[in-house]
Amino acid sequence: MTDSIATDSIATVRRTAVQTEADRVSADLARRGVDVDAVRARYRQERDRRVRPDGATQYRRATGSFGYYAKDPYTPRTDREPVTTDVEVLVIGGGFGGLVTAARLRGHGVEDIRIMDEAGDFGGTWYWNRYPGIHCDIESYVYMPLLEEVGTVPRWRYAPGEEIRQHAMAIGRTFDLYRDTLFQTRATGLRWDEDDDVWTVETDRGDHFRARFVVTSSGTLTEPKLPGIPGIETFRGHTFHTSRWDYGYTGGTAEGGMTGLADKRVAVVGTGATGIQVVPFVARDAEHLFVFQRTPSTIGVRDNRPTDPAWAASLRPGWQRERQENFIRTVSGAPVDEDLTRDGWTATARIQRTMITGTVDERVDPAERERLDELLDLQHMTDVRARVDEVVEDPATAAALQPWYRYMCKRPAFSDRYLQAFNEPNVTLVDTADTGGITRMTETGVVVGDTEYPVDCVVFATGFEVGVSGVLSGSLPVHGRGGTMLLASWARGPRTLHGFTTHGFPNLFQLGPLQNANSVNFVHVLQDQADHIAELIRSARATGARYVEPTRDAEDAWAATIRATAIDNDAFRAGCTPGYYNREGTATTGNTSFGPGPVVFRDVLADWRAHRMDEVMVTT
Ligand code: NDP
Repeated sequence: MTDSIATDSIATVRRTAVQTEADRVSADLARRGVDVDAVRARYRQERDRRVRPDGATQYRRATGSFGYYAKDPYTPRTDREPVTTDVEVLVIGGGFGGLVTAARLRGHGVEDIRIMDEAGDFGGTWYWNRYPGIHCDIESYVYMPLLEEVGTVPRWRYAPGEEIRQHAMAIGRTFDLYRDTLFQTRATGLRWDEDDDVWTVETDRGDHFRARFVVTSSGTLTEPKLPGIPGIETFRGHTFHTSRWDYGYTGGTAEGGMTGLADKRVAVVGTGATGIQVVPFVARDAEHLFVFQRTPSTIGVRDNRPTDPAWAASLRPGWQRERQENFIRTVSGAPVDEDLTRDGWTATARIQRTMITGTVDERVDPAERERLDELLDLQHMTDVRARVDEVVEDPATAAALQPWYRYMCKRPAFSDRYLQAFNEPNVTLVDTADTGGITRMTETGVVVGDTEYPVDCVVFATGFEVGVSGVLSGSLPVHGRGGTMLLASWARGPRTLHGFTTHGFPNLFQLGPLQNANSVNFVHVLQDQADHIAELIRSARATGARYVEPTRDAEDAWAATIRATAIDNDAFRAGCTPGYYNREGTATTGNTSFGPGPVVFRDVLADWRAHRMDEVMVTT
């Protein structure tokens, strides 16, 4: 009884604190002349004018006659003999997920590891994306994995893509992972051999070999996508996707100096996180730049700066784990003594949780929490829109660059150069919101409504098929016990234990966002996943298990946990302007992330490993 009175009064205090803060923000907005109802109406209006009946089918894949857009412009293809030997662990994917898993396995004494990747070197997304201006928009000290193990500190607070790619290669060298790696190789089939308890592996190079364990980490932003613009195939000028930047045509490097553009009229299509980074660089080098925008991004302050050498010298062993931990806790809403990163991500942590899972205070009434979240969101978006007005000189351009939606409807972007580029005389913003994007393309240009913009080059910054690994798209068919196809066994939704393992598919481990926790620093999530998977493989080897495989019951229990904990953001997403976060405005398919977020998820895994890991170790 006394306890429940105490709990009630804590709840009252919290509710009051939430109400007080909401009232304070509300008063601030009123003082700034913001009419909450009018903004809500504007958000609905901006959403409605962009929703297209063709939804996610408006895009086309960079395959077939559009395969040119996905070709590797960086590494010439070399011939080699097919591989036929056996291997203990096959890791599919040479990005950070695959690299960290392999590095951890090396740490557990596993020597016989073969990594496979379609790219010509390590780096994953950082191999493919080398466009001018590319930077990581998460702080490099928490984003780049294994810094201490490799013995380096990034040179910039937000590292350029080339530094990150070089770091991926350094991980490869440090852990001796280049040995046996098969680059320029795509896995085309995995089949479980029940007689020998191994996976048989086939590739587009004619390889045919066997692996005891298979780990897939084939990425979530790998397949470039193109808008299905009528007439796109008729364009006779030069064209490419940002993830295959054609420096042969533009000249220069990711740092600029694109002398090939000096006499060119260039179109950049798309103003997401990529377009925002590309635009200032093309603006500097092209004769004229047309930026084709459908929905403006939020442009937060970047504040990039070189790493302070004195700070780097002061770092003590364990510093990176501590900083990563601090960042992930801060953005996930877990308690911290101090926010070490103090940037645009940590400052907006609370309003990010409308989309990305994390810890919420269950003692606060959900309606009160939502009221405060919406007001804080509105306050932040008011600042974002005010910044556009401050920076962009032409009022009509400034108005078109203002985002009218809640903060996490789109992936936030950060730049101290993007908005400024629109003050240059050689840069034109072409807003395509009312026409649902570009109307059509001709042999010589881009048409919006009735206006044709003649251009020499069209760069598509139009993103990727998000979250589609080879396993999920079916381009990597996986046949488990009894020849069952993984996708067929998932016909009514994914079935996993913790997102990693599936009944009927022994010794197969998948990294990625499915049925586990998520964070804006996804590489940290991958690092935790790699730790867990490496530990499972270590344990299987140590205990002499025949294979690792969860039971159906364990999968069902995990699915129930996901259902019970996943935050319900369907209504939030339904109110958003279209984009890949809401499947182009059509998605209310539910959330499949572990609700309490990555910090709690790690504890769940640690506890499971300590007490229940033997349940998946099949010995007979
Ligand atoms: P996005 O999918 O985020 O953006 C695609 C852009 O293309 C949008 O602005 C979209 O407009 C526009 N577009 C699509 N079709 C048309 C059309 N027919 N006409 C005009 N415009 C069109 O792709 P990005 O490559 O920008 O980003 C993908 C992801 O990559 C990010 O969300 C982020 O996760 C990651 N990334 C991470 C970075 C980092 O530093 N960590 C840096 C860059 C990217 P609309 O919004 O209206 O659909």
